[in-house]
Amino acid sequence: MKKIHIIGGGLAGPEAALQAASLGCKVILSEMRPLRSTEAHQTSDFAELVCSNSLKSESENSAPWLLKQEMRRANSFLLQAADATSVPAGHALAVDRALFSERVAQLIAQHPNIEVRREEVTTLNESDPDTITILASGPLTSSPLAAELQRLTGTEQLAFYDSISPIVDAATIDMDKVYFAARWDKGTADYINCPFTKPEYEAFIDALAAAEKIQHKSWEQIPALNELGAPSSPTASSSAKVGSQDAKPPQYFEGCLPIEETARRGHDTLRFGPMKPAGLTDPKTGRWPYACVQLRQETLRADSYNLVGFQNSLKYGEQARILRMIPGLENAKFLRYGQVHRNTYIHAPSLLTETLQLKQHPNILIAGQLSGVEGYTESIASGLLAGRFAAALARGEQPMPAPRLTANGSLTHYITHAETKHFQPANITFDLLVPLEEELRKKIRDKKERHRIQCERALEAWDIWLKA
Ligand SMILES: Cc1cc2nc3c(=O)[nH]c(=O)nc-3n(C[C@H](O)[C@H](O)[C@H](O)COP(=O)(O)OP(=O)(O)OC[C@H]3O[C@@H](n4cnc5c(N)ncnc54)[C@H](O)[C@@H]3O)c2cc1C
Repeated sequence: MKKIHIIGGGLAGPEAALQAASLGCKVILSEMRPLRSTEAHQTSDFAELVCSNSLKSESENSAPWLLKQEMRRANSFLLQAADATSVPAGHALAVDRALFSERVAQLIAQHPNIEVRREEVTTLNESDPDTITILASGPLTSSPLAAELQRLTGTEQLAFYDSISPIVDAATIDMDKVYFAARWDKGTADYINCPFTKPEYEAFIDALAAAEKIQHKSWEQIPALNELGAPSSPTASSSAKVGSQDAKPPQYFEGCLPIEETARRGHDTLRFGPMKPAGLTDPKTGRWPYACVQLRQETLRADSYNLVGFQNSLKYGEQARILRMIPGLENAKFLRYGQVHRNTYIHAPSLLTETLQLKQHPNILIAGQLSGVEGYTESIASGLLAGRFAAALARGEQPMPAPRLTANGSLTHYITHAETKHFQPANITFDLLVPLEEELRKKIRDKKERHRIQCERALEAWDIWLKA
């Protein structure tokens, strides 16, 4: 049997290790703390929760509940530890973080099949036929390892920053200045369009160029990949500087650039990107505007809209001022401002199989936040799957993906099949699950009842998969 090497002792790594070890595999678990920390981490403990202590909702038939129920049925070791160390938190599962970590550490220490190594892993051996590797080094993967992953996957396949678009209160949009339209009249006219004249566009671009950006903390800077011998990235080398003079430029997926970065690349670049007016005929003029910002409905009640493609890292005060230069948003109330924060994750839709293996290097699996799932519970869930898949591979068997009907399968399906241009990490939600058939949807109007049925059939499919 092949051995399994797991890199990362956060949430996904320990779950994967315990799963694989309990299936009889020999596991090496490498964790770099305390030799080197991530700076978000405070301890050298396994399974440290770096921020809140909540593993989300336990309300029956909610999506996070379903994910956890599936994990419980698959004997998730970390979820057992969470249940055993829970603290009162209403409908959520929250834990005493120190006791939780302590319990996970005990499980690992007591397992005869797990060898712990406190070391920073800096290289990946993709052609070692005797080892299955699970990379679970998280959103703050150390620089040399990130460079190594780039070597294996290509520089454009790893993002170091997440970008979030601003959201505006619908009641504060000046509806006399904007219009509903679908581009090229294709589909229903669901988008609100904010039309710019040429002078308005030019003033907007000038304001954007002069706007103050948020300074990232030093630990949020992109790792010095070039200095580590990795090939240089065209994205990185053409990006704006952040932080100090020596700061390395941030690296984003090209499909999800912050607007100030797009604007920096050329005066008209935004007009050919997120502010493209083509096909958006303004009913007032019968023509396309010079440029256009589109607003997409955020909630079912249509009481808020997000600014499509307007992710940015401007200071909030600057956003309040500059976004109000958009025609129709002069008096807008912003419910959320744009943000950019450090989060290393791969472009899973291009790189990963449904069994979390790298398509080009099937002996390497990616788990946790690095794989494109978002959140503590989701990271543990992906560790659970990776541990089981790795165990099958170690035995020379073909792993079976989690069923699409389940929460685990839906999350994996999302990361491996998402629309590739704008791939963003995701939490588990009902949006990711297979919807009920049209006829059933028409018959059952109550959303809660629909969710109950979705959960029921997910758990049935999960049980069958577990038995198989
Ligand atoms: C600042 C911050 C706050 C967050 N807050 C929340 C929150 O409140 N709620 C929530 O649900 N999610 C939150 N997340 C998102 C996510 O759920 C967590 O990051 C989660 O810990 C991810 O689990 P993981 O196992 O993928 O990575 P991690 O838990 O980060 O584990 C990765 C481990 O790999 C180790 N490692 C890294 N590089 C190497 C290397 N080269 N060699 C050996 N070991 C290495 C690290 O030290 C770390 O222990 C947050 C993320 C960040 C960055």
